[in-house]
Amino acid sequence: MSEYESTGRTRVRRKPGRGSYDRGLVDRILDEALICHLGFVEDGQPFVTPTIHARVGTKLYLHGSKASRTLQALEGGLDCCVTVTLVDGLVLARSAFHHSLNYRSAMIFGVARRVEDSEEKALALEAVVEHIAPGRSDDARPPSAEELDATEVVALELEEASAKVREGGPIDADADMDRSVWAGQLPLSIAPLQPVAEPDLSPDVELPAYLRDWHRPSSGELPGL
Ligand SMILES: Cc1cc2nc3c(=O)[nH]c(=O)nc-3n(C[C@H](O)[C@H](O)[C@H](O)COP(=O)(O)OP(=O)(O)OC[C@H]3O[C@@H](n4cnc5c(N)ncnc54)[C@H](O)[C@@H]3O)c2cc1C
Repeated sequence: MSEYESTGRTRVRRKPGRGSYDRGLVDRILDEALICHLGFVEDGQPFVTPTIHARVGTKLYLHGSKASRTLQALEGGLDCCVTVTLVDGLVLARSAFHHSLNYRSAMIFGVARRVEDSEEKALALEAVVEHIAPGRSDDARPPSAEELDATEVVALELEEASAKVREGGPIDADADMDRSVWAGQLPLSIAPLQPVAEPDLSPDVELPAYLRDWHRPSSGELPGL
């Protein structure tokens, strides 16, 4: 199915025209976002933990140390909610009230499972590295058995999700249209600055092409609903 079923939790009520249940759109937002925010309630206390994620097909993988309270809580079968946010630009209206941001965001609900299978765990960790820097896992040493053992990985099935997108210019009130104030959009994107090599790096190790050309997967492309 190319669309998520809208549920009581995922139905976009406020500005529903900006909502989408398109799986491809949710995938693209997840793939472009560097990090997610993972929310859960443990013993009545809400926590929202920023963390790196990686999508492989219909699975979202999260990883961390064995000692991570967040991962331990998830493995206990708690409901969780993952959000990802891409800020695409500032929206500058003629009035303060109508200022906004252009964004693409996604929200996913579910119960994560602990990844036990060492092959799946290794693939998930490779996906995490590739999510951050595509091409990197061909270069960097893969985790040893001890390192794999020290790392916890959980998988969240992408089954219940929604996206919300705002694009375009400000929506000004008619009464403000003649005001002599600049109005429009300031597009934003994640762009790399100059790489900083380790001081003890051997001079014959060159900056790899995948870092020289690093960009987010669809950075700068306009979202399509
Ligand atoms: C951009 C980013 C990416 C990250 N990616 C990962 C990842 O992929 N895997 C991973 O395991 N961790 C990641 N972290 C760190 C993560 O946010 C947690 O700090 C870490 O997972 C420990 O979680 P815990 O539940 O064991 O924290 P604990 O140390 O048990 O949390 C105790 C308290 O410490 C404070 N705290 C914990 N984390 C943070 C935080 N990030 N910012 C401010 N206060 C905090 C809070 O008050 C929290 O209640 C990332 C952090 C950032 C900002």
